[in-house]
Amino acid sequence: MGFSTPDVTVKNGKRHTAADAFLRPNLQRPNLRLQSGSQVTKIIFDADLRATGVEYKQGRRIKRAFARKEVVVCAGAIDSPKLLLLSGIGPQQHLRSLDIKTLVDSPGVGQNLQDHPSLLGLSWSTPKGRGSSLKRVLGPSSQLLYKRSRKGPLSAPFGVEGNAWMRLDDGGDPTVPDMQFLIVALQAGVDYGFLLSQAIEFKEEVYREYFAPYQGREGFGIGPMLTVPKSRGSVTLRSSDPFDQPLIDPNFLSHPDDMELFLKGIKFALSIGNTTAMRDGIGATFNDKPLPGCQTHPWGSDDYWRCFTRHMASTTYHPAGTCKMAPLTDPLGVVTSTLKVRGVSGLRVIDTSIMPFITSANTNAPAIMIGERGADFIKEDHGALVDK
Ligand SMILES: Cc1cc2nc3c(=O)[nH]c(=O)nc-3n(C[C@H](O)[C@H](O)[C@H](O)COP(=O)(O)OP(=O)(O)OC[C@H]3O[C@@H](n4cnc5c(N)ncnc54)[C@H](O)[C@@H]3O)c2cc1C
Repeated sequence: MGFSTPDVTVKNGKRHTAADAFLRPNLQRPNLRLQSGSQVTKIIFDADLRATGVEYKQGRRIKRAFARKEVVVCAGAIDSPKLLLLSGIGPQQHLRSLDIKTLVDSPGVGQNLQDHPSLLGLSWSTPKGRGSSLKRVLGPSSQLLYKRSRKGPLSAPFGVEGNAWMRLDDGGDPTVPDMQFLIVALQAGVDYGFLLSQAIEFKEEVYREYFAPYQGREGFGIGPMLTVPKSRGSVTLRSSDPFDQPLIDPNFLSHPDDMELFLKGIKFALSIGNTTAMRDGIGATFNDKPLPGCQTHPWGSDDYWRCFTRHMASTTYHPAGTCKMAPLTDPLGVVTSTLKVRGVSGLRVIDTSIMPFITSANTNAPAIMIGERGADFIKEDHGALVDK
């Protein structure tokens, strides 16, 4: 469908976070108080199941904050369901098993976890000077260029410098891509395992063996990423202790279609790397060393690539869907179309957890959009003007 450079939230060549854009410029407002270093441990309800505030721990102290109008939970797709569960909103059986009093039996809380699984590790090397090297990206001339003009490799989103979009499944809407290819201008062996492999979290022994021939060499990687995965995972509580990490089960590849789509994605990535422009133009050579754990399959067979996928597919850190927005007819719906939590009042969830289906590309811009829409819903309900 096409190739593109990534859209990113930057200002003057520097990463600009949602906190930079929305929070910091408003810190002087009298109606805003930021309590950093705090963890909310539960939502407080009155006898009519109206959310009236939150309990939180700051340093060693347990504190409470109360709301005159509404409590808005925006702890993200892992922690928002965790907080609802800790507060007694969730599947009754799960809450009972942890001795948490059920306020609302809401079976969908923590279910429907979606993410974009991606497959990093398909790598090509290029002759010296034809691709990106660490020196070119991080070296003195790059640093000087960035310092002087906020331009050059350091102003790019380090890690994914290009995208390609494809519809590989025969069914479904042909205008919606089901595969995004993350094109990385450094191959993972380039830094001898100091930085990239740790960021990607390759297993040490797999990294050492698989990337052995490519240590320190220039090159690039192409990572197929499922944009409309069919597998669904879950977030549940490990215990009723708010400081325990929740159990996150991404359940990747549990739907067989996801595996088969990855197979098509790998073949397409290989065909990009094998174009005349890549092969003859920049001298790209694919790393065809058999992946440890998959040597029993003939290299390049479908079973080999299925094995490769099972070993190498991982999160793209885009969790979504665990407090999904849905009509009342859907028993697994958690919030209404204006993001109010069903079964209680005075409580909304506004973050990526409300997506019924994950967006078919990265989730940061959609998260900001959800924040903007959520703010409009709140203003509308309380009689404030909404920018149209
Ligand atoms: C490593 C990484 C790389 C990513 N790269 C990209 C990318 O390149 N492009 C892209 O589009 N997206 C990217 N994403 C995804 C993107 O960051 C998320 O989709 C987006 O931030 C989700 O926004 P959110 O508001 O739903 O949740 P979050 O941004 O996770 O915000 C939730 C906030 O709530 C706080 N919190 C949680 N629990 C509590 C509690 N109990 N008490 C108080 N505070 C709490 C958290 O500290 C956090 O600040 C990346 C994510 C990660 C982790």
